[in-house]
Amino acid sequence: MTSPVWHPFFQHGLNEPIPHVERAEGALLHLAGGGTLIDCIASWWVTTHGHCHPRIVAAIADQAGKLDQLIFAGYTHGPAEEVAQGLVDIAPRAANRDPLAHVFFSDSGSTAVEVALKMALGYWHNRALDGLSEPRHRILVLQHSYHGDTIGAMSVGERGVYNAAWSPLLFDVGTIPFPHAGQEQATLDALEAACAQKPAAFIVEPLILGAGGMLIYPAHVLREMAAICARHDVLFIADEVMTGWGRTGTLFACEQAGVVPDIMAVAKGITGGAIPLAATLASPPIFEAHRSTDRARLFYHSSSYTANAIACAAAAANLAIWREEDVLGRIAALGQGMAQRLARLAEHPAFANPRQLGVIAAIDLIAPDAGYLSDLAPRLRAFAQERGLLLRPLGNTIYLMPPYCLDADQLDRVFAVLQKAGDAFG
Ligand code: PLP
Repeated sequence: MTSPVWHPFFQHGLNEPIPHVERAEGALLHLAGGGTLIDCIASWWVTTHGHCHPRIVAAIADQAGKLDQLIFAGYTHGPAEEVAQGLVDIAPRAANRDPLAHVFFSDSGSTAVEVALKMALGYWHNRALDGLSEPRHRILVLQHSYHGDTIGAMSVGERGVYNAAWSPLLFDVGTIPFPHAGQEQATLDALEAACAQKPAAFIVEPLILGAGGMLIYPAHVLREMAAICARHDVLFIADEVMTGWGRTGTLFACEQAGVVPDIMAVAKGITGGAIPLAATLASPPIFEAHRSTDRARLFYHSSSYTANAIACAAAAANLAIWREEDVLGRIAALGQGMAQRLARLAEHPAFANPRQLGVIAAIDLIAPDAGYLSDLAPRLRAFAQERGLLLRPLGNTIYLMPPYCLDADQLDRVFAVLQKAGDAFG
């Protein structure tokens, strides 16, 4: 029987098998009909502490019986208040920078980015109404970035076959070249020149571009990019949707560069990965530009489920785990285990460019036909699946971004399969 389900980023015409997962715990997915998969990519980079973490499950169950959902336009509830304060408390901060003191909830990484872009343009719009500056509209982006699949988020992401159908709807942006090793100064010079044209904002994935191929760049470049924006009064938006919640070895990647953005988008691991929720944090000037006795100035954005109480309860439980458990210690130990094994894998002649930041590890398979539309990634995915792993390579880039509970035995199994993939595909 064919299923009516239409899957994302999946070509139904190829009739590739669609595994049915029944249950999950820790780093393991249990398949219907038997068998398990190690979730090497945290189910699209969301699961942090492990699937079905008991503290998060309990918080969801408890909240579901108390208050499930509440209109959030002018009403509030305990879990949202707790999470907003918790996010403000842990957000990157520095003595000489406005803190991220305001939290706007939404429900996915893409919407958190949309909200960030709307806040940035709203800020300049309202300042122009007050005669404080000219309106600014242009957004600067980093080459090869990915910020989500809604129209605004696609506009600020890399253009390609994956968004060509909607190109008439995507707005024009200024693209700054990615700071490949040895080309950092060119990136900074291009940003400086673009900022002199008075754009509204610059949006970046801090320290590592995810869907663009797990491309890492140094903390000093992130710091200098933020400084250039500050010098030119250009809003600095950090998209911590992937990098947040410990993935890069610190709670947020911006911390490693001492950067406090004007606006920061978080999602994915905000609930430990159990249930959709996102947040866009803003500094006081952004909030104040929208706060007025004039109703026309309010921030025009919402969705029905803004700050859903069950999702907020899960996020509150996640924040408690971060406060009370040594999550960063767990991440450091896992990162070390990954680094040792990655170094061994890199000796295999089929692989090149090993790289790692925190608990994100990547390596490229040397392959003649490795483009986005080649069937290499799906074949690698199938190879891994037959051997008990859930992997989703990006072209010829195999990456791991596991839940932090992955143990040494599981890591050994993962890297043994990668060695075999090198033998089979190299
Ligand atoms: N921003 C970044 C950096 C991402 O990696 C992603 C998703 O992978 C998004 C935004 C979009 O998040 P979501 O898929 O939750 O809409």
